[in-house]
Amino acid sequence: MNFAYSPFAQRILFGNGCLSNLRNELQRLKRMRAVVLSTPHQAALAHSLLLSLEDLGAGVFSDAKMHVPVETVHRAQDYLHARQADAIVAYGGGSTIGLAKALALRAGGKLSIIAIPTTYAGSEMTTIYGITENSLKTTGRDLSVLPSTVLYDPNLTLDLPLDISLFSGVNAIAHAAEALYAHDRSPISDLLAQEGIRALVQGMPALRLDSQDPISRSYCLYGAWLCGTVLGQVTMGLHHKLCHTLGGTLDLPHAETHTILLPHSLAYNYRAVPQAMQRVEAAMGTRHAATGLYEFISKLGLPTSLRDIGMQEKDIALVCDVVMAHPYSNPREVERDSIMRLLRRAWDGSVPIDT
Ligand code: NAD
Repeated sequence: MNFAYSPFAQRILFGNGCLSNLRNELQRLKRMRAVVLSTPHQAALAHSLLLSLEDLGAGVFSDAKMHVPVETVHRAQDYLHARQADAIVAYGGGSTIGLAKALALRAGGKLSIIAIPTTYAGSEMTTIYGITENSLKTTGRDLSVLPSTVLYDPNLTLDLPLDISLFSGVNAIAHAAEALYAHDRSPISDLLAQEGIRALVQGMPALRLDSQDPISRSYCLYGAWLCGTVLGQVTMGLHHKLCHTLGGTLDLPHAETHTILLPHSLAYNYRAVPQAMQRVEAAMGTRHAATGLYEFISKLGLPTSLRDIGMQEKDIALVCDVVMAHPYSNPREVERDSIMRLLRRAWDGSVPIDT
């Protein structure tokens, strides 16, 4: 057995009520002036977090937006500068945490981030950042953007709308599924990925009955943490390339695209990586990773066709061209005709098969 394993040094607190440790955690990091970031939608709780910080709170910037527009980064930079901030509390999903990362990057490692995730996207566990300028999102990896501390408080996810919760949950499963066949995976990332899928599959169906069920919310957030961890540790493959292309080229919604495509991506790679697929099957309690996931998604009432989220048939060839121009590393060779067939089946919502 040969592998490299490089976990990041982060402090994780998990559990209902762990939010109350926020001020202590800032003190632990020896930070004196924290600005709380949020989207406009989550501004009220951001302001109550500011109050809880007492003398360590320096303000609230509540204008985080999807895909981290550079104009927002500039305004937030000015805000932080005016308040002499030395720390950021990023309260929200991947968009808010993405803004925190962009700010930390531009501050050259001088800003600490405490992340308080309220979705299952997993950005808080990775060194990946992205900034959008002139409609182009530039991404990269840098250790300075990694949150020092992450507070996972399932109570904060109780109000996450059901549809966003389920899409976000499948998005997290996609990180773990691809981690299981990544060329740079390790026995540890395999364990984390399998357990992450298991926890999400355990928690998500019950959310349909009661989206405020605290036990299911705990399972989902725990699973999202593990899936985010492997996203940060290993290289993603064909599935993420397809989703990034559909998002970047056609502006299709991020988590919805992941949800529709994942069964098809797994079907494409199925025969190339039998052990990885067995781990997905064990985690899900299903006999076939691709069709089992397709059924799981259908039963959750989520869409199974790209047509349903606004993709036009004529764009299939364009997406295929972009994917073929710079494919990500993948266990099965990425072939144009097969990818065309995969995209066509995902477009019209067919059952996933080995194309
Ligand atoms: P998001 O952060 O855009 O949140 C979606 C909406 O849900 C927002 O309006 C937000 O205010 C609201 N919301 C969030 N939590 C809520 C809660 N608990 N209750 C009520 N409303 C809530 O969505 P997301 O899916 O978390 O993040 C998507 C973004 O994250 C994408 O831009 C994606 O590229 C990025 N991302 C980055 C990484 C990385 O490693 N850098 C990883 C995953 C995702």
